[in-house]
Amino acid sequence: MSLTLYAATTNPGKLRDFSVAAADNSIASGIAVEPLPNLHTIPAPDEDQPTFAGNARLKAAYYSRFTPGYVLADDSGLEVDALHGEPGVRSARYAQDAGFQPLPSLESLTTDERNNLYLLERMKKIAQRTARYHCVLALARGGTVLLTADGSVEGAILTSSRGAGGFGYDPLFYLPALHRTMAEISLEEKHTLSHRGRAFRAMLPQLTNLPL
Ligand code: IMP
Repeated sequence: MSLTLYAATTNPGKLRDFSVAAADNSIASGIAVEPLPNLHTIPAPDEDQPTFAGNARLKAAYYSRFTPGYVLADDSGLEVDALHGEPGVRSARYAQDAGFQPLPSLESLTTDERNNLYLLERMKKIAQRTARYHCVLALARGGTVLLTADGSVEGAILTSSRGAGGFGYDPLFYLPALHRTMAEISLEEKHTLSHRGRAFRAMLPQLTNLPL
């Protein structure tokens, strides 16, 4: 089987998650994931859906109108059980959407740092800390979504940051089996257990049924 999927992302970390997931999977031989050509020239759509699946489907359908091939889009983020799935689709702008203002002395914080501080604030009195990174992938062609798949990685939210690697919520996201946070593991380990990679592996068996 020979198939090229055009990913609607220029993020090298996301592309690497897909290629690591494909590398150890026999179904994936002949399947290539490449960045969508000229992605930077296409205006980004509004990701205004209330679920990861909704946004992934919206992006895949939208971008697939700009290319004749199969287009792969993802949406992902953090879901905290005790917060009923927050920050969810708001993961990237959690603190900003909530109007969270750190102290004046903390004004120079990055978006990720603000989000992490706000998450800690929301969970200040919460003992139940289970959470997951969740990714939904959608594949579309010619404006029609053909397939979707889910992947997640389970963990727990610490009460303070640990580690300098990764991005987003990684310094707070503790992996019980590894006794480390996502910000303390190597890039190789991260790519191996990534929620995006897991979603991609879940999509692979479905790809064999696609019309070529
Ligand atoms: P995106 O949809 O993959 O761009 O992710 C949206 C947001 O979810 C990011 O800005 C991060 O805050 C969070 N997120 C998604 N994946 C990860 C991850 O692997 N580590 C840390 N944060 C993540």
